[in-house]
Amino acid sequence: MRDLRIDVDARTAGDEMLSFAEELYPICRSITGDGVRETLRRIGKRIPLDVHEVPSGTQVFDWTIPLEWNIRDAYIEDPHGRRVVDFRDHNLHVVGYSAPVDTTMSLAELKEHVHTLPDQPDVIPYRTSYYAEAWGFCMQDERLHGLPDGPYTVRIDSSLEPGSLTYAECYLPGETDDEILISCHCCHPSIANDNLSGIALTTQLADHLRTMPLRYSYRFLFIPGTIGSITWLALNREALGRIKAGLVVTCVGDRGAPTYKRSRRGNAVIDRAVVHVLRHSGRRHRVLDFSPYGYDERQYCSPGVNLPVGSLMRTPNGEYPEYHTSADDLEFIDADALADSLSVYLRSLDVLENDEAYLNLSPMGEPQLAKRGLYPPTGARGPSRELMARLWVLNLSDGDHGLLDIAERAGIPFAEIRTAAKVLIEGGLLAPRTA
Ligand code: ZN
Repeated sequence: MRDLRIDVDARTAGDEMLSFAEELYPICRSITGDGVRETLRRIGKRIPLDVHEVPSGTQVFDWTIPLEWNIRDAYIEDPHGRRVVDFRDHNLHVVGYSAPVDTTMSLAELKEHVHTLPDQPDVIPYRTSYYAEAWGFCMQDERLHGLPDGPYTVRIDSSLEPGSLTYAECYLPGETDDEILISCHCCHPSIANDNLSGIALTTQLADHLRTMPLRYSYRFLFIPGTIGSITWLALNREALGRIKAGLVVTCVGDRGAPTYKRSRRGNAVIDRAVVHVLRHSGRRHRVLDFSPYGYDERQYCSPGVNLPVGSLMRTPNGEYPEYHTSADDLEFIDADALADSLSVYLRSLDVLENDEAYLNLSPMGEPQLAKRGLYPPTGARGPSRELMARLWVLNLSDGDHGLLDIAERAGIPFAEIRTAAKVLIEGGLLAPRTA
C-alpha cells in the first residue's frame, strides 16, 4: 500500500500556494506569448518541467495555433496628456490579443472599444478576442462616465506575429505506465482564483508527489485554456489510452465549498473516488453532472476523446460576481481554502493509488479473528466501525471487488477500509489478488 502523506501541514502548504499566486499575479499572461513563458519559468524553478513550443499555424484537430501575442504598453490619454487608462496600472485594462493601435479619436468613437460592467461599476472586466482580430480597453464603468469629450490619444503597443503556443508538462513516473492527468490553465492575466489558484495547487501537488513511490505515473499539464488542451490532445493521441483518470484544476482558492464536476462518463473511478472523499468529509460540498461548458474538461471529455477526467474546484466559473473581473484578486483567495482544496486532491488520489482488489485467504465461513488478536472490542450497542471495516473487507475480497467498491458498499471512509485491509494482510488473512 502507498502512503501519499495526505495529512500535509495545512498552514505551511496554504501559505506556500498563496505566496506563489502572489508572485505570479502581476504577469500579463495570455494563450501565447512571453507572459506564459515567464510563468512556466517560475513553475520550473519548483518542479521539473518540459516546456513545449508549438508553431503558429499548426493544425490541431479543428483549430489552428494562432499568431503569438505580446504586449509592452497601452494607454488612453486625455487632451491634457493624462493617462485615464493605463496598462501599467492593471493588465486587465487591455482586451487580450488586442491588435496594435496608435491613433486619436473622440470619446464617442473610443466608447466603441471600451468594455465596462454597468452592474459592477467599480471593477475592470476581463475580455479577450483571440480568434477575431480586434482591439479594446476595459475599465471601471464609474470612471468611463466621468470622462470629458476628447480627443483621446489611444495607443496599444502590442504585436501579433508568427511565433508559438507555449505549454509545459511535469511527468512523474510510477510503477505502471498508466497515467493520472492533472491539468490547469495558465492563460489568464492578473486573476487570482481563475486560475493562479489552480497553477499554485498543481505545482504544490506535483512537488508533494515527486518524492514518493507512486503506483500511477502522473502528468501535470500547464496549458492555455481550450487551445492548449486541444493542442496537447492532438499531439499525444497515442498516449490517450494510458490515461486512467484525470482532474482539471481550476478555481480552487475561493472561500466557497468544494465542488466536483463529474467526467462525461459520469461514474469513472475518478468520479467515484472524489465523490466518496467529499461525502465522507462531513462538510458542505456539491457534486455536479458533466456539462459541455466550463474549462478543459470540455476537451478531455469531447466525444472522440472521452477521457475519465472531471474537475475539482470550489465555486464554479461564472457563479461568483468577482468571476472574470479585477475583483478576482489576491484578496479573493485564501490560504486555508487552497490548503483544503489540496487536501481533497490528495485524499482522492490516495484512493486511486490504493484501490486494489485482495483475496480473503480464509473464505470458508468467517475466519476466527479473536484467536489472531484481530477482533476489536465491541461497543455496548453493537460492532465498532473498526470491526465492520474488517468484516466488509473479508467478505468482499473475492478478487472482484477493489477497496473503493468495499468502502462504497460499507459506507465507511476509504482510509478506514484501507487500514482494515492492512491489518488483515499483516494477520495473514488477506493477500493481493495478483500474488
Ligand atoms: Zn476564466
